[in-house]
Amino acid sequence: MPEMETATLIDLQQIPGGDGAGRLVEEEISKLDVPFTVINVTTTVAALILPFFFFSWPALAAFVIFYTITGLGLTAGYHRLFAHRSYVVPMWLEYVICLCGYLAIQRGPLFWVAMHRLHHKHSDVPGKDPHTPKEGLWHVHFGWTQKRRKDVWNRTLYRRLVPDLARNRFYVWLDDERKDYATYFLLLIISFVIGGFVGEAPGFDVYSAVCFFVWVGLLNRVALLHAFGLINSVCHLIGTRPYKTAGHDESVNNGLVALLIFGEGWHNNHHAFPASARHGLRWYQIDPAWYAIWLLKKIGLAKKVRLPKKRKGA
Ligand SMILES: [Zn+2]
Ligand SMILES: [Zn+2]
Repeated sequence: MPEMETATLIDLQQIPGGDGAGRLVEEEISKLDVPFTVINVTTTVAALILPFFFFSWPALAAFVIFYTITGLGLTAGYHRLFAHRSYVVPMWLEYVICLCGYLAIQRGPLFWVAMHRLHHKHSDVPGKDPHTPKEGLWHVHFGWTQKRRKDVWNRTLYRRLVPDLARNRFYVWLDDERKDYATYFLLLIISFVIGGFVGEAPGFDVYSAVCFFVWVGLLNRVALLHAFGLINSVCHLIGTRPYKTAGHDESVNNGLVALLIFGEGWHNNHHAFPASARHGLRWYQIDPAWYAIWLLKKIGLAKKVRLPKKRKGA
């Protein structure tokens, strides 16, 4: 039996009421999430077309600010703080960081972190890694969130990967896709309303409102989805591999992706030293998420910041 089917059989047996002995063809273990796909495809297409028709400088500035807040929430927060525990912050700040990441609408920390830990555990093993380019570019960039593997999207299974986060009632409360939809909807409305009031027209400026709706509400989420899609795809395909990594892991460093998404493109460094808060290990490897953590450390808010002790590989 091929490795992918073996892995899936083991996992399916753990699903309550799941089929441990059935025929494991791909269609049976995966299900297309129709509402999610419709919303994702619609908002993605809209976010790629509408910015050409609706533009204002305040909307662009707001987009840059919101991309930074939510992008750092995901990179310095969801990824380096929650998934790898690369540093420690006071609980109030952990919640703030969590909310910054959550507003990117990539689900709550339980699911996100579970998927990421699964990715590190089974890097580039088809059928086990939730997103590897070995299952195709569409799958790694988008498809794995639309066509959902039962063993990956089962709440009981993925929560086992995040016992540290699953003890926190707030994080558990956030682990609910209906809340993601509601938050996204609210975000779109709030963007529209704020945009209307910062416009130049007297009273409510409808054009400015639509600009904010498009740039802050729609485009920010889509840009971050693509940015993380690039980490999952390009950073396991195109770039340099200064460090040998274990198993099937084919992670690479890609400076362009690092520039787009706060230093996360130094992905081979990261797979070699997953606990390190710093991914850009050389002075020229720009790593804004690390600069943010470094700043938190300097002002006494980040403690127990973990860095590589010794270099391995090339
Ligand atoms: Zn990776
Ligand atoms: Zn990681």
